[in-house]
Amino acid sequence: MPIDATQPYDDQNVFAKILRDEIPSRRVYEDDYAVAFHDIAPHAPVHILVIPRGAYVSWNDFSAHGSEAEIAGFVRAVGHVAREHGLVAPGYRLLANVGGHGGQEVPHLHVHLFGGRSLGPMLA
Ligand code: IMP
Repeated sequence: MPIDATQPYDDQNVFAKILRDEIPSRRVYEDDYAVAFHDIAPHAPVHILVIPRGAYVSWNDFSAHGSEAEIAGFVRAVGHVAREHGLVAPGYRLLANVGGHGGQEVPHLHVHLFGGRSLGPMLA
Protein backbone atom coordinates (compact mmCIF):
# COMPACT_ATOMS: atom_id res chain seq x y z
CA MET A 1 0.00 0.00 0.00
CA PRO A 2 1.42 3.40 -0.91
CA ILE A 3 1.97 5.69 2.05
CA ASP A 4 0.70 9.17 2.80
CA ALA A 5 3.89 11.25 2.47
CA THR A 6 2.55 13.83 4.96
CA GLN A 7 2.44 11.28 7.80
CA PRO A 8 4.79 11.68 10.78
CA TYR A 9 7.96 9.58 10.71
CA ASP A 10 7.39 6.02 11.96
CA ASP A 11 10.59 4.69 13.50
CA GLN A 12 9.32 1.11 13.15
CA ASN A 13 9.50 1.20 9.33
CA VAL A 14 11.66 -1.44 7.67
CA PHE A 15 14.43 0.95 6.62
CA ALA A 16 14.66 2.40 10.13
CA LYS A 17 15.18 -1.16 11.34
CA ILE A 18 17.86 -1.71 8.69
CA LEU A 19 19.61 1.49 9.84
CA ARG A 20 19.60 0.19 13.42
CA ASP A 21 20.78 -3.26 12.26
CA GLU A 22 17.63 -4.84 13.69
CA ILE A 23 17.04 -6.67 10.44
CA PRO A 24 19.65 -7.78 7.90
CA SER A 25 20.47 -6.03 4.65
CA ARG A 26 23.10 -6.47 1.96
CA ARG A 27 24.91 -3.17 2.55
CA VAL A 28 27.18 -1.86 -0.19
CA TYR A 29 28.07 1.53 1.29
CA GLU A 30 27.66 3.66 4.40
CA ASP A 31 28.96 6.95 5.72
CA ASP A 32 27.84 9.63 8.17
CA TYR A 33 24.88 10.64 6.02
CA ALA A 34 23.71 7.63 4.03
CA VAL A 35 23.44 3.86 3.86
CA ALA A 36 23.08 1.88 0.62
CA PHE A 37 21.95 -1.73 0.26
CA HIS A 38 20.60 -4.08 -2.37
CA ASP A 39 16.84 -4.02 -2.96
CA ILE A 40 15.29 -7.25 -1.75
CA ALA A 41 13.25 -7.60 -4.99
CA PRO A 42 15.49 -6.19 -7.75
CA HIS A 43 14.06 -4.81 -10.98
CA ALA A 44 17.45 -4.61 -12.74
CA PRO A 45 20.83 -6.38 -12.51
CA VAL A 46 21.88 -3.55 -10.20
CA HIS A 47 19.08 -2.27 -7.94
CA ILE A 48 20.41 -0.48 -4.90
CA LEU A 49 18.51 1.66 -2.41
CA VAL A 50 20.26 4.67 -0.90
CA ILE A 51 18.74 6.14 2.26
CA PRO A 52 19.70 9.04 4.50
CA ARG A 53 20.57 8.24 8.11
CA GLY A 54 18.19 10.98 9.21
CA ALA A 55 14.51 10.32 9.94
CA TYR A 56 12.81 11.67 6.79
CA VAL A 57 9.61 10.20 5.36
CA SER A 58 10.15 11.27 1.76
CA TRP A 59 12.00 13.48 -0.66
CA ASN A 60 9.48 16.18 0.18
CA ASP A 61 10.27 16.00 3.89
CA PHE A 62 14.03 15.79 3.31
CA SER A 63 14.22 18.70 0.87
CA ALA A 64 12.19 20.87 3.28
CA HIS A 65 13.79 19.90 6.59
CA GLY A 66 17.16 18.26 5.90
CA SER A 67 20.25 20.26 6.80
CA GLU A 68 22.62 21.45 4.07
CA ALA A 69 25.14 18.87 5.27
CA GLU A 70 22.60 16.03 5.20
CA ILE A 71 21.38 16.92 1.72
CA ALA A 72 24.89 17.34 0.32
CA GLY A 73 26.08 14.17 2.03
CA PHE A 74 23.17 12.15 0.70
CA VAL A 75 23.52 13.39 -2.87
CA ARG A 76 27.25 12.67 -2.80
CA ALA A 77 26.62 9.18 -1.43
CA VAL A 78 24.24 8.35 -4.30
CA GLY A 79 26.86 9.44 -6.83
CA HIS A 80 29.58 7.55 -5.01
CA VAL A 81 27.60 4.29 -5.08
CA ALA A 82 26.92 4.69 -8.81
CA ARG A 83 30.63 5.24 -9.50
CA GLU A 84 31.68 2.33 -7.27
CA HIS A 85 29.39 0.00 -9.22
CA GLY A 86 30.81 1.06 -12.60
CA LEU A 87 27.53 2.61 -13.70
CA VAL A 88 28.72 6.00 -14.90
CA ALA A 89 29.92 5.05 -18.38
CA PRO A 90 27.03 2.73 -19.29
CA GLY A 91 24.49 4.93 -17.51
CA TYR A 92 21.90 4.33 -14.84
CA ARG A 93 18.56 5.56 -13.49
CA LEU A 94 17.65 7.24 -10.19
CA LEU A 95 14.09 7.15 -8.88
CA ALA A 96 12.47 8.47 -5.72
CA ASN A 97 8.80 7.60 -5.24
CA VAL A 98 6.87 10.07 -3.08
CA GLY A 99 3.53 9.32 -1.45
CA GLY A 100 0.40 7.78 -2.91
CA HIS A 101 0.60 8.81 -6.55
CA GLY A 102 4.33 8.10 -6.53
CA GLY A 103 3.72 4.57 -5.26
CA GLN A 104 6.00 4.96 -2.23
CA GLU A 105 5.62 1.99 0.09
CA VAL A 106 8.37 2.42 2.69
CA PRO A 107 8.04 5.64 4.74
CA HIS A 108 11.75 6.46 4.94
CA LEU A 109 13.22 8.41 2.01
CA HIS A 110 15.02 6.16 -0.45
CA VAL A 111 16.47 6.64 -3.89
CA HIS A 112 16.40 3.62 -6.17
CA LEU A 113 19.55 3.23 -8.27
CA PHE A 114 18.99 0.96 -11.29
CA GLY A 115 21.65 -0.18 -13.72
CA GLY A 116 23.43 -3.06 -15.36
CA ARG A 117 21.29 -3.13 -18.51
CA SER A 118 19.68 -0.73 -20.93
CA LEU A 119 16.60 0.49 -19.05
CA GLY A 120 14.69 1.79 -22.03
CA PRO A 121 12.21 4.61 -21.76
CA MET A 122 11.03 6.05 -18.44
CA LEU A 123 9.22 3.55 -16.21
CA ALA A 124 5.45 3.94 -16.13
P1 IMP B 1 9.07 2.19 -2.82
O1 IMP B 1 7.89 1.62 -3.56
O2 IMP B 1 9.75 3.28 -3.61
O3 IMP B 1 8.72 2.58 -1.43
O4 IMP B 1 10.14 1.03 -2.78
C1 IMP B 1 10.39 0.25 -1.65
C2 IMP B 1 11.43 -0.77 -2.05
O5 IMP B 1 11.95 -1.36 -0.87
C3 IMP B 1 10.92 -1.92 -2.94
O6 IMP B 1 11.68 -1.94 -4.15
C4 IMP B 1 11.17 -3.16 -2.08
O7 IMP B 1 11.55 -4.28 -2.84
C5 IMP B 1 12.27 -2.68 -1.15
N1 IMP B 1 12.34 -3.37 0.14
C6 IMP B 1 11.35 -3.59 1.02
N2 IMP B 1 11.82 -4.22 2.12
C7 IMP B 1 13.14 -4.37 1.93
C8 IMP B 1 14.18 -4.95 2.73
O8 IMP B 1 13.99 -5.44 3.84
N3 IMP B 1 15.44 -4.91 2.19
C9 IMP B 1 15.69 -4.37 0.96
N4 IMP B 1 14.75 -3.83 0.20
C10 IMP B 1 13.48 -3.84 0.67
